[in-house]
Amino acid sequence: MEMIKTIRETGVVGAGGAGFPTHAKVRSDLEIVIANGAECEPLLSNDKYILAKHGEEVVQGLELILEVSGARKGIIAIKKKNADVISSIEKIIKSRKDLSLALLDDFYPAGDELILVSLVTGKNVPQGELPLSVGCMVSNVETLRNIYRASLGEPVTRRTLTCAGEVKNPSVVITHIGTSIQDVIDACGGSTVETPAIIVGGPMMGNIERDLNAPVTKTMTGIIVLPSNHILLQKKSMSMPWVIKQSKVACCQCTYCTELCPRYLLGHELYPHKIMRSINFGLSVPPEIIESAFLCSECGLCEVYACPMELSPRMVNHAIKNNLLESNYHPQFDNKKVITRGDDLRNRKIPTSRIKNRLQIGKYDRKVSSIVETNPSKVEILLKQHIGLPAVPVVKMGDKVTEGDLLADIPEGKLGARVHASIKGRVSFVDQERIIIKRES
Ligand code: SF4
Ligand code: SF4
Repeated sequence: MEMIKTIRETGVVGAGGAGFPTHAKVRSDLEIVIANGAECEPLLSNDKYILAKHGEEVVQGLELILEVSGARKGIIAIKKKNADVISSIEKIIKSRKDLSLALLDDFYPAGDELILVSLVTGKNVPQGELPLSVGCMVSNVETLRNIYRASLGEPVTRRTLTCAGEVKNPSVVITHIGTSIQDVIDACGGSTVETPAIIVGGPMMGNIERDLNAPVTKTMTGIIVLPSNHILLQKKSMSMPWVIKQSKVACCQCTYCTELCPRYLLGHELYPHKIMRSINFGLSVPPEIIESAFLCSECGLCEVYACPMELSPRMVNHAIKNNLLESNYHPQFDNKKVITRGDDLRNRKIPTSRIKNRLQIGKYDRKVSSIVETNPSKVEILLKQHIGLPAVPVVKMGDKVTEGDLLADIPEGKLGARVHASIKGRVSFVDQERIIIKRES
């Protein structure tokens, strides 16, 4: 179909998650498309900005997906606390019968695709499956805006993200893809601490980035600057041997990690306390309980909120998944089995305010009112910013490019996404991982 071809050509990928290529996600048998504006990670406000400033474009993108997929209903999910955004979207959709709003409480992880599908539609995605299995597609609001822009022939060359924490002016930043993290921090007035440490993404699911020259990608939602001795950095830098040693000596089998696990509450057979019990027998043992680690979304609620001993079932699950994947082990889940814990899911929502307290990031939760744009002299564009294979360069060193020009294409017959130039300039470096462009006027 023409629109899917356009989405493919313009390099649209899921902007709120791991970057699944959008052209491969849209199907023709969908019932409901959910625009994910929940933005459940603390400190981030870029999705809220997109909805407030570009709500019409998000809605147009949603309409395009409804048209392509044959879905009868589009639902825009926003947190109730964002009253200004809600009223502006209500005005935009008031004459559109196929669109509605779903208003969410301020809890974590409200933006988890499977939680969202359950709360918004009442359908439970079976364990080991995607929302597509129940006729739903969930798309982040920036992805939908990119789809609308694709329909105008504009490739993905910019990323809107939040830069927060120890920076002079916490801001929503409109970046050229490939801009360095340092350039983004400078655009926000610079760091306010001498030895800043960086988390890329949100405080809960983001990762430590030690290289300030690392580039912005299509999936980068946030840059959180913290003092290097912040508790969040300490938690995220725990070594696996230490995590396992602590788990062995300190897990009291209280089961709180299971009782508050969002995936367990969805009815999936994930019991993190049992996994913690099993690791006493070594990570290489793959009984059913161990393989259920694949059902973990790594939301981090167990380590940040549930566990009274400050253990990390999340990291244990992550290690088990890596371990089993390395041995080429792929679990099969019984996706027909339905365990209903819907009331528990609704009654055990963890307020985001409590997460902020636990993470000691409350002081950084300032209202982000500043909007800045980057103006980099150089961009480093990664060829793999998405699920699938890296894109294959179609330019060479010395080539002149302008914003939107194709730099690298999807390998023939494979899953991947195209990448495009984000500034006007000359290609100064090309290999199989990256393309660097230096600005020229
Ligand atoms: S990180 Fe913890 S709480 Fe989140 S899904 Fe995994 S086991 Fe459950
Ligand atoms: S919450 Fe912590 S102590 Fe309790 S069972 Fe889970 S890992 Fe063990």
